[in-house]
Amino acid sequence: MQRDPLEVLRTVWGYPAFRGLQEEVIRHVLDGGDALVLMPTGGGKSLCYQVPALCLDGLTIVISPLIALMQDQVAALTQLGVRAAMLNSTLEFREAMRVERAMEQGELDLVYVAPERLKALGFLDLLARCRLALFAIDEAHCVSQWGHDFRPDYLELKLLHERFPDVPRLALTATADAPTRREIVERLDLGAGRVFVAGFDRPNIRYRVVPKLQPKAQLLGYLGREQAGRSGIVYCLSRRKVEETAAALEEAGFDALPYHAGLDKEVRAANQDRFLEEEGLVMVATIAFGMGIDKPDVRFVVHLDLPKSLEAYYQETGRAGRDGLPSEAFMLYGLDDVAKLKSLLARSEVQSERQRHVERQKLEALLGYCETTRCRRQVLLAYFGEELPEPCGNCDVCLEQPASFDGTELAQKALSAIYRTGQRFGAGHVIDVLRGESSERIERLGHDRLSVFGIGRDLAPHAWRSVLRQLAALGLIEVDVEGHGGIALAGGCRAVLRGERCVSLRRDPTPTRGSDRRKGI
Ligand code: ADP
Ligand code: ZN
Repeated sequence: MQRDPLEVLRTVWGYPAFRGLQEEVIRHVLDGGDALVLMPTGGGKSLCYQVPALCLDGLTIVISPLIALMQDQVAALTQLGVRAAMLNSTLEFREAMRVERAMEQGELDLVYVAPERLKALGFLDLLARCRLALFAIDEAHCVSQWGHDFRPDYLELKLLHERFPDVPRLALTATADAPTRREIVERLDLGAGRVFVAGFDRPNIRYRVVPKLQPKAQLLGYLGREQAGRSGIVYCLSRRKVEETAAALEEAGFDALPYHAGLDKEVRAANQDRFLEEEGLVMVATIAFGMGIDKPDVRFVVHLDLPKSLEAYYQETGRAGRDGLPSEAFMLYGLDDVAKLKSLLARSEVQSERQRHVERQKLEALLGYCETTRCRRQVLLAYFGEELPEPCGNCDVCLEQPASFDGTELAQKALSAIYRTGQRFGAGHVIDVLRGESSERIERLGHDRLSVFGIGRDLAPHAWRSVLRQLAALGLIEVDVEGHGGIALAGGCRAVLRGERCVSLRRDPTPTRGSDRRKGI
């Protein structure tokens, strides 16, 4: 006999009602259907399988790759009086035996299992001796090589299905761009199941992306002017930058803490606890920070460096405003970020050509988002396969309406300067040549005698940087992957140079303070 899901929700969790798609998903599962559920972080995915686990007779197996989250979930469920346990490498042999026996004897409703278990000797035989009700596959994007955390063990899930074809499966993820989605369905053989997509829009988050000119000053200005006394996260790419930024904020009188994987475990835990408990703290962190953090009143998320992809950006910015109140995602973006990401990409362990292609496309999507003259929310949601019919009115593009202009001639000048100087110099040098700024180095190289020397005098350095950034986003120039930041021409630029292709550029706001000559663009 099945228990009524709403009654289970009320009596076990004490919640009055289901949220969003939860009820629909649960009904579908209780009817024995397979499904893929795409819901943003914090959307309430866990209840989609936890409630059915209690409604159905038999055992629900939850495949979950994150041992820490698994522990939290099992602890929380046990507190609610749910018969839940886990099987992973942290358990002692005797404890694991005890769990396995309880599974066979029908004494458990939910067991969380790490994916590597699937390969363990005798594990499938153990499952065959249990009365199985449901397989829940959490973080299902781990089966996709397109996704950013591919786990080979997830491929074993297909075997699980072949061995137990009658047990329904519920796959869940917060990462849901179209290619990942297709790959999950294909690799898990979920073609016959339903796909539930919960809205990814976070209307209370205001998206802003600004050119990176003087990152430290820009960050201090932003925190001081717009976010004083509020809690937020500042993401940086490297541990060193985390340390430096946290120290600079402290010095400027902010309550700031560092967080990265290189810190002692105790320090990390202490900093995280302080962030969760206190108000008005700024956590300066690498992306190691945030998984499973459930702080409702994070008012802002700043990216001092580009995130790895739009999915990552969505996840990271999604930590703001869980309470539904106005919050902000603020990103500084410069060409040196592109160079850095590209060199990471070049050095990464990822071997296959296909994987590299995937990574490049992701980077392009991200750059497209940064340089867009369309509503940012529309661009972001479109990436997740969701259409927002009207511009949102709550992003910088909607609010400030950046003008676009015909930048074909500027593009031609920049491309020519890159070409004439040999396609190996960085933005600073190319801009000096364009503006006719002579120096000992430029004379030594003979670049002051080139036809392009000084053809761009009338444009300020920051405006040239903006042009170069946009040319990179458009794929017309390549930022060198060797890590020197040298710029080369890329496919498509010929048509521009021959005047067969027009280039529309956005006019970035003029910086208000100081010079931007040296800092990355
Ligand atoms: P996800 O796994 O999608 O990130 P969770 O399952 O952890 O999200 O849920 C996020 C939060 O929302 C949790 O604190 C959970 O208890 C709460 N929640 C989920 N569904 C409901 C509901 N129907 N009513 C009240 N709270 C809910
Ligand atoms: Zn908008």
